[in-house]
Amino acid sequence: MVRVTRALVESHADFPPSDASSEFAPGREFVGVVVTSPGSPSLEGKRVIASSMIPCSSCDLCRAGLSIHCRARVEIGVARDGALAEKIALPVSSLLEVPKALDDDRACFAVPLARALHAADLVKLESKPYVTILGDDAVGLLAAQVMTQRNASVRVLGREPTRFGLCEKWGVKHRHIDQVGRRADQDVVFLRSHAPGDLEIALRLARPRATVLLLGPPQALDPSAGQSALALIHAGEISLIGSRGERLAEALRLLTTDSVDVRSLLTAKFRFSQFADAFARAARPDSLRVLLEAA
Ligand SMILES: [Zn+2]
Repeated sequence: MVRVTRALVESHADFPPSDASSEFAPGREFVGVVVTSPGSPSLEGKRVIASSMIPCSSCDLCRAGLSIHCRARVEIGVARDGALAEKIALPVSSLLEVPKALDDDRACFAVPLARALHAADLVKLESKPYVTILGDDAVGLLAAQVMTQRNASVRVLGREPTRFGLCEKWGVKHRHIDQVGRRADQDVVFLRSHAPGDLEIALRLARPRATVLLLGPPQALDPSAGQSALALIHAGEISLIGSRGERLAEALRLLTTDSVDVRSLLTAKFRFSQFADAFARAARPDSLRVLLEAA
C-alpha cells in the first residue's frame, strides 16, 4: 500500500477525446511512500514511483520480457482508479524507489519522461536531418528535450504561444503548426497532438518511406479522415508505429542528474483539498502539469 504524497493532474491531451469521460481517470504520475508491504518489508517507508502499467507477470508475453504488452495488463487510470487518492494498492513489481537526490516534485515527472524516452528509442534519430514532434503538451516538450540531445535538428510544432519561450530556453526549435508547409520532407514525425486533422498533417509532413510514430493514445477519426490517412500511408509507403512503453529507470536517472528541465512544466501547485481549483487550472489551454500535494 502506497500513501500518495504528490500527484500531477494530466492535461486533456493525455486522454483520447473519445474516451476522456468514460474509461480514463487522471493520476498516473505520482510519488508516494510505501506504508505497508508484507512481502517486501524493506520497502516500507521508502519513497516510490510506479509504472503506469501493471502486468500479470505470468502470460507468454510477460515471460518473453514484453510485459508492457501483457495479455492481462491493467493500467493505472485505465479501467481502474488513478492515483488521486490518499492511498493506492500496487504490486511491488511496479514500484521503483526514488533516489535520495531527487525531490518529490521532479520525481512526479518520471512516467511522462519515461514515455518520451521509450518513443525516442523506437526510431534511430541520429543523422536524420528532419525530425518533427507534432504537439507541444508536457509529453511532447519532454520528448523534445530528450530528442534534441540526440539530434539538434528536432523541431516542435504546436499551437500554444506560451510554449515558444520554453523551447527557446532549451534550444529547441518551435514553430506554429500553421506556419509550416506540408512539403513531405520529414524523416520522422512524432504525433502527440489529438487535434482533429493532425494525423493527416503528420502524414503530409512525412517524406516517402518516412516513419510516423504515435506518441500517445490515438485520436478519434471520422471515416473520411481515416480513409485519407490510409491513402497517404499507402502512397508514401509510410511506416506508422505506436509507442506506449516506459523507460522508468532511465527517466529517474535523467531527473536525478537534472538533465531534463521539468520544473518549467509545473504550471501550479495545490493541496489535495483544493482539487476543484487544481482541475480548473489544469483545464486551461496554457496549463502543462498541475501538482497536487498531500497535506
Ligand atoms: Zn502478462
